Amino acid sequence: MHSDVLIIGAGSAGSVVANRLSADPARRVTVLEAGARVTDPEMRRPELWPFIHGRRYDWAYRTTPQPGLAGRSLEWARGKGPGGSSLVHAMAHMRGCRADFDRWVEATGDDRWSWDALLPSFIRSESFSGGADAVHGADGPLPVMLPGPDLSSPLVTDYLAAWESLGVARIPDHNGGEMLGGTPNSLTIRDGQRVTVSDVYLDPVLDRPNLTLLTGVDVHRLVLAGSRVSGVEVSLHGADEVLTADEVILCAGSIGDPLLLMRSGIGDPSVLSAAGVDTVLESTGVGTNLHDHLLGAGTLYRSARPVPPTRLQLSESMTYLSLDGLSVTAGPADIVVGCVVGPSASESFPDHGVAPGEGYTLLFGVTNPTSRGSLRISGPDLADEPIIDPNYLDTEHDRAAFRAALEHARLVGGSDALAAWRDSEVLPGASVSTEAEADAFIARAAITHHHPVGTLSMGASDAAPVTPDLRFRGLSNLHVVDASVIPSITAGPVHASVLALAESFAARYPA
Ligand SMILES: Cc1cc2nc3c(=O)[nH]c(=O)nc-3n(C[C@H](O)[C@H](O)[C@H](O)COP(=O)(O)OP(=O)(O)OC[C@H]3O[C@@H](n4cnc5c(N)ncnc54)[C@H](O)[C@@H]3O)c2cc1C
Repeated sequence: MHSDVLIIGAGSAGSVVANRLSADPARRVTVLEAGARVTDPEMRRPELWPFIHGRRYDWAYRTTPQPGLAGRSLEWARGKGPGGSSLVHAMAHMRGCRADFDRWVEATGDDRWSWDALLPSFIRSESFSGGADAVHGADGPLPVMLPGPDLSSPLVTDYLAAWESLGVARIPDHNGGEMLGGTPNSLTIRDGQRVTVSDVYLDPVLDRPNLTLLTGVDVHRLVLAGSRVSGVEVSLHGADEVLTADEVILCAGSIGDPLLLMRSGIGDPSVLSAAGVDTVLESTGVGTNLHDHLLGAGTLYRSARPVPPTRLQLSESMTYLSLDGLSVTAGPADIVVGCVVGPSASESFPDHGVAPGEGYTLLFGVTNPTSRGSLRISGPDLADEPIIDPNYLDTEHDRAAFRAALEHARLVGGSDALAAWRDSEVLPGASVSTEAEADAFIARAAITHHHPVGTLSMGASDAAPVTPDLRFRGLSNLHVVDASVIPSITAGPVHASVLALAESFAARYPA
């Protein structure tokens, strides 16, 4: 079987690229996806998102024990099936700050990755509940809903008022280019149900004769011919096969992409030989620059009155803040404090004793961590467990910013404006007050915010595995289009920027 374009992974980015590239009927596009179609009705229910992990549509990875997290190893969910991680994610839609994309431009030397240049791609991807304006789109595939007071929890309404009482501005939403301030989270929910990227980009165009989606297909390796990829080795209907293509686009995500390259003999020779793989193409940046957001879970309060169940997806409002002052409204975000409509705590605190309806959590975290980790294969096969080491909280920058985030969570959590909700602070509790106590608490409380990026970073430097055009360095017909190319993480959840990145790539793909 031969295709003009072979897309590996039908996840968030892969669904976008498949739609846009197959719009040209002369181009034969094939999409290969390891997972099967997901029909679990619980996947659709926004409030259940934290409880659907570990099912057959989750790759269910795990990190190595993290020295910065008191030796804990974290579960890393990743979606498997058409829709990819949008099958399991928390549905928050936040584009990031202008300043985040300035860093992309700095890494790539390419203005096409600036906020202004990406804005048309953001707009093209969405159908915003508030209608079109200078920064929002109303005609794109993905529904983006900004909840009003009818849907927001009364706790969240008071939480936002509490920030205002402390001098933090109220902003219209997170998607105007500046994120500092309080606002409900925009969500990719329609009629009370999760919308996956496959639902709106891939599935509606599957009747195109030039588009083929093959599910349940594990891509084992790329097959190289000189400086080109001639095809991919897959298992299809129980048999091993090679599928050939003129162009190959990697959309298997921050974990899937580098693992596939390494299994193919592309990467750092010392990493490959340790896993029993011969080096075919040396590329030492593959699998490096791994970074992620953490959230402290949490500042947990017992409530003085019943907390009604969420009508959305539990974590209803993230407030982004500058450490230069609460009243700063433009520029980079340093920390975030989020309000969860229910008790949420890491696995370190199983005995916190606060039942649903009796409490709430203020999550807190660092938006632009400087700690960097890596990802490696442990053997030559897809079934070999990857070695995932995000190296969390390695830098003093991250630890100090995390302490500041905890202080800000306690500031708003203890404010007069939340007095009617607050009975007592259960976590961290009165025993945590010094810097050392805060560090020790954070190491036990931090959980992943599920945003690993950067494992095939794009950059101007030859050390970056991917060029600013999203071509893999050293292979003329291989592109990488997904969260792995993000050189430095955006302040908030990354999904919106992954979609914009894919839209931007597709818009300039040669006809
Ligand atoms: C639990 C969770 C909560 C999250 N919450 C949010 C949120 O609220 N907001 C937000 O913005 N972001 C959130 N994210 C992050 C966001 O969902 C991801 O960053 C984004 O979906 C990544 O898109 P991608 O295209 O890079 O990869 P993915 O969407 O993960 O797609 C990769 C696809 O490739 C397939 N694949 C991998 N390897 C192979 C192979 N060898 N052969 C064939 N197919 C393969 C996978 O099965 C998958 O379908 C969350 C993520 C998770 C897991």
